[in-house]
Amino acid sequence: MSKPDTPVVATNFLRAVVQSDLEAGKHAKVVTRFPPEPNGYLHIGHAKSICLNFGLAQEFGGDCHLRFDDTNPAKEDQEYIDAIEADVRWLGFQWTGDVRYASQYFDQLHAWAVLLIEAGKAYVCDLTPEQAREYRGSLTEPGRDSPFRERSVAENLDLFARMKAGEFKDGEKVLRAKIDMASPNMNLRDPILYRIRHAHHHQTGDAWCIYPSYDFTHGQSDAIEGITHSICTLEFEDHRPLYEWFLANLPVPAHPRQYEFSRLNLNYTITSKRKLKQLVDEKHVNGWDDPRMSTLSGYRRRGYTPESIRNFCEMVGVNRASGVVDIGMLEFCIREDLDAHAPRAMCVLRPLKVVITNYPDGQEESLELPRHPKEDMGMRVLPFARELYIDRDDYMENPPKGYKRLEPNGEVRLRGSYVIRADEAIRDADGTVVELRCSYDPDTLGKNPEGRKVKGVIHWVPAAHSVECEVRLYDRLFASPNPEKAKEGGSFLDNINPDSLVVLSGCRAEPGLAEALAGERFQFEREGYFCVDSRDSRPGHLVFNRTVTLRDSWGQG
Ligand code: ATP
Ligand code: MG
Repeated sequence: MSKPDTPVVATNFLRAVVQSDLEAGKHAKVVTRFPPEPNGYLHIGHAKSICLNFGLAQEFGGDCHLRFDDTNPAKEDQEYIDAIEADVRWLGFQWTGDVRYASQYFDQLHAWAVLLIEAGKAYVCDLTPEQAREYRGSLTEPGRDSPFRERSVAENLDLFARMKAGEFKDGEKVLRAKIDMASPNMNLRDPILYRIRHAHHHQTGDAWCIYPSYDFTHGQSDAIEGITHSICTLEFEDHRPLYEWFLANLPVPAHPRQYEFSRLNLNYTITSKRKLKQLVDEKHVNGWDDPRMSTLSGYRRRGYTPESIRNFCEMVGVNRASGVVDIGMLEFCIREDLDAHAPRAMCVLRPLKVVITNYPDGQEESLELPRHPKEDMGMRVLPFARELYIDRDDYMENPPKGYKRLEPNGEVRLRGSYVIRADEAIRDADGTVVELRCSYDPDTLGKNPEGRKVKGVIHWVPAAHSVECEVRLYDRLFASPNPEKAKEGGSFLDNINPDSLVVLSGCRAEPGLAEALAGERFQFEREGYFCVDSRDSRPGHLVFNRTVTLRDSWGQG
């Protein structure tokens, strides 16, 4: 496999930040957090954030919390919570202490909201969402003060208490911070602190019908947990002044600092939970863990290893520059890992029967092949007999120049076995070749025939002992490098690659694979890397997923 010469360790500016903060004695210990909203499954973009947050804590002997940012009960679900926890663990990380939920701090957040009201820094506003939008102004125009902005503290306290008591309907009132409607930063134009939502919450049940906004929750949760470095993606840069306003105006126990880095964008890939959910809900894929999805559960089922994903995140680096990463780089990482660790096996995807006419009927011999060309993984046994299968594509009647496989009267070596010669092709009524009659040279086991050049080596399996299996050839889900970009009047769905899944049945794998376990990975020689499907494979019906082809596209441009 060709490897790019470029250095593979990219920079991570946050490492330097943490290091210098620790050296300057600002913190005794670094504490980070990964704060997913449980409204979907984690995708490859989240992996970057996970590796960064957990990685910094690991590297500098600190803590990393897993905190569900669960302020929007309508879109959240226990299914997502369970999946997120499993994915973080699968990636190889363990959070410090118990799983945390922003909803654990609802009482504290509510008390702080009351404090802001008492200090004249928050008010209940009755503008409808449309009116509020109008009053908010735009990037070029300042906003206007809400007519409810000068309500008295007593009235605000009363209304907020009644909001909490459930006296109003969804959207009828909100609690807003009183900051500055003319601020050039829209986030400071009296942002919403609390909304009314009569919704059941997966953690707090029916205790609340008002829910804090993301902005009012995040920084204070960080402060409560003693987070030192609150790392998020660049779109939150404009929220940082608000993050700091809350910390400055509330009696919080600590003052975390927010840092932003650029999110991971991969070509040929969608990393938006909303769109991934649409793919699932509209059944363009078979669930969140469909092996074509950019979710961690999809990659896992496809056969990606946690090591390869962690390695990829390290190679991508952490900075504040925007850019799109080539998916070839992720594929390179998985190939590199599987090349080193996946045992070799043979599987014939499109079987063509071969009868070795000069091999005695009923005879059988056991050939031994190494399980890995470099690593010591022991040997595997392959019975050689009179009837075998090779791949249909490895025989051609009128081959192009330079063809190194089997042709009429041509010779080829069967991997780890003998040299055979194609003597005769048997056809069905349509003229399709259904069987090859070949002869083998008994002197060619493990050595080349004297004075004859045999150009090619092909894979094969014995007919009688091989196991029938289904092979799913997965390819990129999107055919376009920028799948988000829709055609006029179309949607990102138009960019779906119609050949992203090709199912082959009646494939034949070498006998040892009959016992392969769910998730087990192999290199099928000459075909690519494959793993046993963890959902549909069972004894008697083996299913393999293609993880990645053998050919590397990255670093060759
Ligand atoms: P999405 O846009 O897919 O809905 P999100 O940012 O709303 O993602 P969260 O569950 O809030 O999803 O994300 C948890 C953490 O993961 C956040 O800190 C977020 O910044 C980070 N994150 C999300 N997407 C990416 C990405 N593509 N690259 C790096 N970090 C990301
Ligand atoms: Mg988010």
